[in-house]
Formats: sequence, C-alpha cells, structure tokens
Amino acid sequence: MLAMKCKLCLENEDIKKSHIIPNAFFKYMKNNKGRYREVSKEGNKDNQVSYDEYLLCGSCELKFSTEFESYVIDFILRNPGSVGVCSESDSTNITLSNVDFTKLKLFQMSILWRAAVSTLDFYKHVKLAPNIIELLRVNLDTLTPVEANVLPCFMDRIFIDAPNDKTTLADRTESKMFISNPNKIVIDVLGFEYIYFIFGGVEWRFWMHSCSEYFIENNIVISNRGILNMTIKSIGTHNTLLEAGVLARINHLNN
Ligand SMILES: [Zn+2]
Repeated sequence: MLAMKCKLCLENEDIKKSHIIPNAFFKYMKNNKGRYREVSKEGNKDNQVSYDEYLLCGSCELKFSTEFESYVIDFILRNPGSVGVCSESDSTNITLSNVDFTKLKLFQMSILWRAAVSTLDFYKHVKLAPNIIELLRVNLDTLTPVEANVLPCFMDRIFIDAPNDKTTLADRTESKMFISNPNKIVIDVLGFEYIYFIFGGVEWRFWMHSCSEYFIENNIVISNRGILNMTIKSIGTHNTLLEAGVLARINHLNN
C-alpha cells in the first residue's frame, strides 16, 4: 500500500489516480486509435496517455467531479444549454451568460492547483509559491472560490481557422481536439506572469497577480455577474502556439 495522504484533505489514505486536466478532455481528443496530438516546445508527438497520478483520495476526487468538474465539461465540451449557460457569438467574441461563478472559478483553481502539485513532467512549468498552493488547497477543500480578481483566468476560444459562416459543427468539434503542455509567460518589463493551458478548444490563461475592476466590469474574467466574454483566436495568429513550432492543422494533414 502507498503510505501517502491525500494532497487536498491531508487526511485520507485511500489515494486514487487523479487527472490534472480532467480525462474527459483527453477522451474527447482521442481519435479512433485512442491517440491524440500533443504540442510542446520539445516537439509535437502522438500520444495516448492522459496524465494521471496518485494525488487525491476517493472522496476528494468525487467532490471535484460532482461539485464543479462535470458542470464545466458539459458547457465546454458538450452543450452549454444543458447546464443553463447561454452562449452568443459574433466573429470575434463568444459571450456566455448565466455561468455559475462558484463552479467555474473552483474548476479554474483546481486545474492550477493540481498542475502545481503534480510531479508529472507534462506539468513541470506550472510552479506556484507555497502560500498560493496552500491558499488554493484550503479553498478547494472547503469549496470556497477565491475572489474574482484573485488568480484571474482569461479564457480565449481557440479555433484552427477563425470561424465564419462556413464553419461547421465538425470544425467546432475539431477545434477542441488538441492540447498543449502548460507553460509560463513572463513579461519582465510589465511585471506580468501568466501560466497558460490549452484544452477543450480554450486557452486558460492564469494571471499570477490580481486584476483590476476593469476586467470584472467588462466580464473578461468570470465573477458573480455570471457573464464571460471569450475572445476568438485562431491558431495561425496564436503566438504562444506558433512559438512551440506548431500548427495543429499541419499535424492533422500529416496523419
Ligand atoms: Zn482527500
């Protein structure tokens, strides 16, 4: 038996294998051979693992899944309407309304926290200060979201080509089928530090500082107003992905 305790509650010892990015996002991407493309600075590769490790006890794992994970999976990967989220879009923006702040914020916090405590190489660029890790742990354990402006997460919708009138459902589905290993961007001059993840057709860009009211008033980060504006980006204009030496479309054509 593994004599380790759950990293969340610090009590239970019935540790299960947990995913950092939930398995539903990996499953969604896997083709009929059970493989997907992984994009990283070290080069792109075909992969089939979904990056799990011993992290949480059964009851904490279940808590994450029922309290916020299934909700976010439903509105990101399936149908926003099924969980009461309204979605409106034009060529540059998607606006979600009636979003459950608590659930989405807890989900964002859980991704960041799990990646930070993970020992997997895939998540090696996600490093947080010990006090931030502990803040996230305590708040996740008690299902208490931090304030909207604390560790704000900017969510952009990523497409292979910018969507237009001809964009089909298949294109939308395909756009959710790649993942990049999380990385850090530091802009020294401005004192900015971001950690970004890409999965589910969304770039999840966490700012390591608190943000001003401007971002909340304009619904650029989720708050208890329940409205979220997601900017639409295409991979071809996405600097961080291009920097990684990647075009998912090229990968796709090479298949
Ligand atoms: Zn636990």
